[in-house]
Amino acid sequence: MRFSRAFIPTKKESPADAEIPSHKLLVRAGFIRKVASGLYDILPLGARVIRKIEQVIRQEMERAGAQEVILPIMHPAELWQESGRWDVYGKEMIKFKDRHERDYALGPTAEEMITDLVRKEVKSYKELPLNLYQIGRKFRDEIRPRFGLMRSREFIMKDAYSFHASDEDAEREYWNMFETYSRIFKRLGLEFKAVEADTGEIGGSFSHEFMVIADTGESKLVYCPECGYAASTEKAQQVRPEVPPNREGEFEAVEEVHTPGIRRIEEVSRFLSVPQKRILKLLVYVIDGRPVVLALRGDREVEEAKLKKAFNAKEVRLATDKEIEEFTGQPKGYLSPVGLPLPVYADYSVIPMVNFVAGAGRADYHLKNVNWGRDFSVAEFVDVTEVRGGEPCPKCGAPLVEKRGIEVGHIFKLGTKYSEAMGATFVDEQGNEKPMVMGCYGIGVTRVMAAAVEQGHDENGIIWPVEIAPFEVIVIPVNVKKEEIVEAAERVYSELMEAGFDVLLDDRNARPGFKFKDADLIGIPYQVIVGKKASEGVVELKIRRSGERLELPVDGVVGKLR
Ligand code: ATP
Ligand code: MG
Ligand code: MG
Ligand code: MG
Repeated sequence: MRFSRAFIPTKKESPADAEIPSHKLLVRAGFIRKVASGLYDILPLGARVIRKIEQVIRQEMERAGAQEVILPIMHPAELWQESGRWDVYGKEMIKFKDRHERDYALGPTAEEMITDLVRKEVKSYKELPLNLYQIGRKFRDEIRPRFGLMRSREFIMKDAYSFHASDEDAEREYWNMFETYSRIFKRLGLEFKAVEADTGEIGGSFSHEFMVIADTGESKLVYCPECGYAASTEKAQQVRPEVPPNREGEFEAVEEVHTPGIRRIEEVSRFLSVPQKRILKLLVYVIDGRPVVLALRGDREVEEAKLKKAFNAKEVRLATDKEIEEFTGQPKGYLSPVGLPLPVYADYSVIPMVNFVAGAGRADYHLKNVNWGRDFSVAEFVDVTEVRGGEPCPKCGAPLVEKRGIEVGHIFKLGTKYSEAMGATFVDEQGNEKPMVMGCYGIGVTRVMAAAVEQGHDENGIIWPVEIAPFEVIVIPVNVKKEEIVEAAERVYSELMEAGFDVLLDDRNARPGFKFKDADLIGIPYQVIVGKKASEGVVELKIRRSGERLELPVDGVVGKLR
């Protein structure tokens, strides 16, 4: 491809709504353009990357024995009604009517569609197992589409579904897919971790998420460097010991909660002096194994600094708006919680509910030494604890490491949830009719593209892994008016193409600095710079990732890159 003919609209400025590097860089380097919230055009460079990611996925899925299908993205409501998900899937599913007033949805996932196909065609154990996959558009009307392709409303997913005659066979396929996913993400050049995960909305008995490690990731995970245990923080929490009941006799009995997931909020206004009347409630939660006091309207910096001092604590963190929403069910802005990560109280039973600080976010408006049992009689822990770094591994006890990650893949063993609901049965060897045992396996293709940039970039732009780079090599003649330079560049360009490389020739009549900037921004792994020394038959090879440069004879480029 010649740059002068290519549609690569690079930009100096990042879009105003872009918060993370991948979003900024994919727009600036001309890979994507926003159409509307959560909707993106994928431009030629982006399409090249997507096709390469898909290629790796196809190769590995086929190698694992899966077969590709293409199903409609328009899903009849009846199928979703049969599984029971039409009413429960929620607002993420886009629903609409056709001209005959029949209900449809744009598929956010395709368990119902595939189960319908298989139940109609497969009748005997002899036709099982089956693993069918597709690579196509999915629609989810996300509440907060953000981070560009990372969380968009329309995206490309590889989704696979397997059908089995027995639970053991479904389990075998689950681990086959586990290994396939590991191979895929390795080939894609990503640093990732497979973590034990919650089964959530899709249901089923067990599941793993594949997380690309990145500070900007929306998910949290913990792993054990000693024994290899790895889990999403929510999942890790489920294997913790139960919160012990309130110590009976010591305090009043505790009522059951009204808010699902949150136990009790204790009114403490009665012991506040007048200027502190602004504090209406003291909410005592256990977050990350530590007592956390939520108070009305704290000022983040003031609170943090004061609490640090008051508790002589290394670190004091205020909960974020999102946490407040999750923990309290209150709209953000209503409460400003004060988190006290007191370092030593990992064991719930020994958390001393004594000497709390309750704060109003104004100097001298704090209550020190607030005590459970003396100043207020009832408080109950709310277990919203996440397992964090430093806590003991549930398998071997070594300290866990905590990281943020981007969920790029998710595999589930579904069991018979869908086959039972939709009557996907087969006749086994003994002539008995049984529901098929299912698994499902997803990869966010467009999200993988963003995740690769999140992991591969520097201040000058993107650094693509070679396997998915839009072009593997860019040939840059520094001056297109010099015949010997043009000649050498054209030669390298055509030799590389003949050798099977994806090559871009920057034949634009522009200053070299301008071209170098674009090459770095786009992130092509190898740059062949054809300059003055072309007359001596010498060119320069620059490696984007390391910045390393070396001189090569014109006819040595192909051999070097091969
Ligand atoms: P998330 O937790 O990020 O909302 P999910 O758990 O809802 O994702 P799954 O139902 O497991 O997603 O779908 C399989 C894969 O599809 C995910 O692992 C992710 O890579 C991708 N994916 C899901 N939602 C989006 C989205 N809005 N934009 C881009 N990719 C997505
Ligand atoms: Mg989701
Ligand atoms: Mg998820
Ligand atoms: Mg998921």
